[in-house]
Amino acid sequence: YAAEPTSPNPKYGEVNELSPPAPGERMNATFVTLARNSDLWEIARSIRQVEDRFNRNYNYDWVFLNDKPFDDAFKKVTSSLVSGKTHYGEIAEEHWSFPSWIDQEKARQVREDMAQRKIIYGDSISYRHMCRFESGFFFRQPLMMNYEWYWRVEPSVELFCDVHYDPFKFMRDNKKKYSFVISLYEYVETIPTLWDSVKKFIKQHPEHIHKDNSMKFLSDDNGDTYNKCHFWSNFEIGNLNWLRSKAYIDFFETLDKDGGFFYERWGDAPVHSIGAGLLLDKSEIHFFNDIAYYHVPFTHCPTGEDVRVKLKCHCDPSQNFDWKGYSCTNRFFEMNGYDKPKGWEEQA
Ligand code: GDP
Ligand code: MN
Repeated sequence: YAAEPTSPNPKYGEVNELSPPAPGERMNATFVTLARNSDLWEIARSIRQVEDRFNRNYNYDWVFLNDKPFDDAFKKVTSSLVSGKTHYGEIAEEHWSFPSWIDQEKARQVREDMAQRKIIYGDSISYRHMCRFESGFFFRQPLMMNYEWYWRVEPSVELFCDVHYDPFKFMRDNKKKYSFVISLYEYVETIPTLWDSVKKFIKQHPEHIHKDNSMKFLSDDNGDTYNKCHFWSNFEIGNLNWLRSKAYIDFFETLDKDGGFFYERWGDAPVHSIGAGLLLDKSEIHFFNDIAYYHVPFTHCPTGEDVRVKLKCHCDPSQNFDWKGYSCTNRFFEMNGYDKPKGWEEQA
């Protein structure tokens, strides 16, 4: 004797589809996460939110990258959460080590000095490899070569609103190459000579500098000095072919040769941002107001109550960083001549 199921179950052994995939075209796109095995439960939370808010309807792939092999627990949990295909890559040693031209003793002294000055991650070797990898190598990993678009996801991030359209398709249809949700000023202690290297690159490769670039976002004196504004790269949706272009590779290599990833602590956020700002047409950089996002310690909660209601957002709008004093997003709007979204004053 078997009890009747309390709700109708069409066929035993079949899992009901919670929501069928959204109809329409798919882009050649993937999520990408750099993580350690120990990041498993933090990345699991991020994946769950990305899936619930967007990807369960789109089923895009997810590439995981690590400087060590991923273990079975990591693969099992992440592949069960992702609705698309998952791929796991181990990073080649030459993309996660000191290049030959780096003076190890000089780099060690810098770490010691930064530790004393209590600069965040200042004493870390692995953080520097991470920043250099994200700046110059993630987009040319063998697994990434199969894709044209990426969406970067880090452990412990949150998505507060439904993503009610395909941002990859939006980027393609609107000729966007790079995007952000939060922008801010970099700690100058981590990049004292970055702009000197950038100026060297501009001199050596004027052919790569776009005539309608975003210099006004990056500099208040027409390129003489850097104002430290950058897009926060723990969230990015972007075009991989752009990162693989000669222009971006020449840019990265000029910076890499100067050694600032190790002699200072250059982050991938200012590197990507300056690259996008100088090499792209400013119209190719997009701000996603409607993608609500948190990475400690900042929140992007969409400006405009109508947007938040329509997208079923669960963020506190008073936490929105966009119009606060330490954000650079107002400069992005000014440069482009955009009107700020309705309701921004309430969040300043
Ligand atoms: P923060 O956001 O700048 O505080 O830095 P995170 O600790 O979040 O690191 C940035 C990204 O790199 C995250 O996706 C981390 O999981 C990843 N990451 C950082 N250090 C390492 C590392 O040593 N190995 C690997 N495989 N991933 C790392
Ligand atoms: Mn992080």
